Amino acid sequence: MKENEEIKCSFCGRKKSDVDLMIGGLTGHICNNCVEQAIKIIREESDDQLSQTLSKDIDLLRPSEIKKHLDKYIIDQDQAKKVLAVAVYNHFKRITQPADDDDVEIEKSNIVLVGRTGTGKTLLAKTIAKILNVPFCIADATVLTEAGYVGEDVEAILSRLYQAADGDVKAAERGIVFIDEIDKTARKGDNASITRDVSGEGVQQALLKLLEGNVVGIPPQGGRKHPEQKLVQIDTKNILFVCGGAFDGIERIIEKRRNSQTIGYGKKPTSREEKENLLRYVTPADLKSYGLIPELIGRFPVLSHLNPLERDALKRILTEPTNSLIKQYEKLFDLENIELVFKESALDIIVDKAMEFKLGARGLRSICEAVMLDAMYEIPSTRKPGGKREKLVVDEEYVQKHLNQSALEKLKAA
Ligand code: ADP
Repeated sequence: MKENEEIKCSFCGRKKSDVDLMIGGLTGHICNNCVEQAIKIIREESDDQLSQTLSKDIDLLRPSEIKKHLDKYIIDQDQAKKVLAVAVYNHFKRITQPADDDDVEIEKSNIVLVGRTGTGKTLLAKTIAKILNVPFCIADATVLTEAGYVGEDVEAILSRLYQAADGDVKAAERGIVFIDEIDKTARKGDNASITRDVSGEGVQQALLKLLEGNVVGIPPQGGRKHPEQKLVQIDTKNILFVCGGAFDGIERIIEKRRNSQTIGYGKKPTSREEKENLLRYVTPADLKSYGLIPELIGRFPVLSHLNPLERDALKRILTEPTNSLIKQYEKLFDLENIELVFKESALDIIVDKAMEFKLGARGLRSICEAVMLDAMYEIPSTRKPGGKREKLVVDEEYVQKHLNQSALEKLKAA
């Protein structure tokens, strides 16, 4: 090349001054436009190949196997587990099926889970991702805003998924995103604040962009986009979105709808038992009445509810799951060469407190932490290496003694 001759792209012939970036090789150059074009071609060409790789990488379990795994970690919630197992199975079937020429396209099975806080919505989504060995991230809908407002852009969700995938774009593109508190983006009634109304609906609109299966440019480190920043392109087509929300007060909407459907002859008043768990009748129409926009609801074809956790379920949560709280404490103490024994009476009182403060399963952890704090503080400094194995028995009296006034007040405020 002559000395003053400007470098040109060996593919399209564009001059260096006409493009953003020119990459040099041994015998030629390539501009950023051609790189982008090449990536697009590779993507299209490799779709078929990709589906084969995907089916190798993902541990595609049958719905009953998925449920069996979920049973190890999550107590009760059978209906939600079944619905989720089927939806996830179909989703991964869909993305691993080889492209064929019939026009039947299996739609994505994004999922909405409705249930009180602390009933296991996040845990379900997280556990599914773990079982299937795909990247997973949690986003809080309450901190999301429309682009240009103070808060987090919806694209930040994808940055998080990309980070959870350790920067592997292909893995991120078949990950699972859990969006918590989706109900808080609902359009409110007359008495809600106008600002929240607008931005809530704006967030739903912004989420649509992710749900519709677009290629979205994201800042790899998260944060806001800057004009000079290099973006990573993520295709959201195969990302599974699971939304969760408590939808406080939706029972009234469900009850009203059910009553209006059976008006007149044959109308039965809602029984007490039904009233207690009206959530099981939740429909997409109820979500719409609650304030989710129809376009968003349309993108979530699968809807399930979670039951409130009763006393018995809370007690089982303490001891049964593979990594239950009590098993974790036993292990911690075992590492200090101490045998920790929880008496039945201690478990009962911990559950009673969780019920009393309406903290659900979430409260179990705070109560246990308060109860075990002194022991966890003192034991490491009193133990000598190679010392005799000891035993710590936690009974009702122990719990009462350690759940002192200040611990209780903190729980009340939680
Ligand atoms: P949600 O998303 O419904 O608000 P989470 O899934 O975050 O609730 O639950 C909070 C914690 O409570 C979990 O990390 C888990 O320890 C416990 N938990 C809740 N529900 C269950 C359940 N059904 N089985 C076992 N543990 C549960």
